[in-house]
Amino acid sequence: MQNSNVSLASKLPGIEQSIFSIMTALAQKHDAINLAQGFPDFNCRPDLIAAFTKYMQEGKNQYAPMPGILPLREKIARKTQKLYGANYDPEKEITITAGATQAIYTIISTIIKEKDEVIIFEPAYDSYIPSILINKGAPKYVQLEPPFYKINWDQVKKLVTSKTRMIILNTPHNPSGTVFTKEDMTQLEKIVTNRDIIILSDEVYEHIVFDGIKHESICRYPELAKRSFIVSSFGKTYHTTGWKLGYVLAPRDLTEEFRRVYSYAMFSALTPAQYAYADILDDEEHYLGLGEFYQKKRDIFLESIEGSKFIPIHCHGAYFQCLDYSAISKEGDRKLAEKLTKDIGVASIPTSVFYHDKLDYKVLRFCFAKSEETLRKAGEKLKSL
Ligand code: PMP
Ligand code: GLN
Repeated sequence: MQNSNVSLASKLPGIEQSIFSIMTALAQKHDAINLAQGFPDFNCRPDLIAAFTKYMQEGKNQYAPMPGILPLREKIARKTQKLYGANYDPEKEITITAGATQAIYTIISTIIKEKDEVIIFEPAYDSYIPSILINKGAPKYVQLEPPFYKINWDQVKKLVTSKTRMIILNTPHNPSGTVFTKEDMTQLEKIVTNRDIIILSDEVYEHIVFDGIKHESICRYPELAKRSFIVSSFGKTYHTTGWKLGYVLAPRDLTEEFRRVYSYAMFSALTPAQYAYADILDDEEHYLGLGEFYQKKRDIFLESIEGSKFIPIHCHGAYFQCLDYSAISKEGDRKLAEKLTKDIGVASIPTSVFYHDKLDYKVLRFCFAKSEETLRKAGEKLKSL
């Protein structure tokens, strides 16, 4: 096909292709172990696949209702009430979406108008900034630094202006593995109370929390919950990232406005998967055991690199272990990530890509949602450095 040669002024100038695609392609090219993009290398539960198959065979292959099938929304409401003590009306306050990325994009499109300011904490998941920019919003950055990635709330306070429309929080945090605390929530509450600020709380790793720490869902805090969109993803909880199904919790007025946009951006999400998740959502053991399941994997990965010069960074949640490599190389993190993929055979993500100004703290992110064998093999290779 020839180029169209129509004039094209990019709506996202300066934004490159997602690092996850870049590093996965590089890993495939060099036959490297892919600890870069965050996805499990093991299969999901067989009963989930059986349920999905059954519903397809039964003919659940047409459009789901716009906000998602009601039984699934009812089960999410019960789970949220039981876990976090928050009441969401399944009819009016819960919407099933085609994954969390699509939910985040739609929430930002629903709320952000030209010149609205959005405070984000960096390092930040890579979809936030493009979603803000394409809606002509203005991202305002608070930088978190290794090894603790703590939020300086005085800095946040100073960034708030009359144009601040949204704050995006992500806990457990990708890429750092930090889990924000009750104190963080209290500070956030002080900042937003009596202001017209909406919170987008990205909680896709809500069940992947380690070391006896509690996930501080925004919905535990009524003053925060009443102005928040909370996003979760079945892909993370059920090892099914390729099914792209998630959901949004938000008060009635916010949900109404969100659905107005969602119904034209997407309309509805994968029908048989919704029925399949509804079948297994009551199985508490699955999600309550997820922290322990992934903590073991984190520990196997850490054990497998013991004796190397990598310095592990505190990781209490999500499925990423960041490693400080400053005792090994002076090279930039992007260069080193590429080199490790080609020469050692282990792909990772350079964390500088999660900062808008590419701050390089000499830290690489490794995904440990992998089999023990994969983790040990990768560890051996990394130790050879
Ligand atoms: N937010 C964060 C912090 C993530 O790590 C991911 C994972 N890709 C997402 C959102 C997107 O989730 P989904 O795959 O459901 O779109
Ligand atoms: N969330 C995953 C990660 O952080 C990947 C998401 C994606 O590939 N877009 O690696």
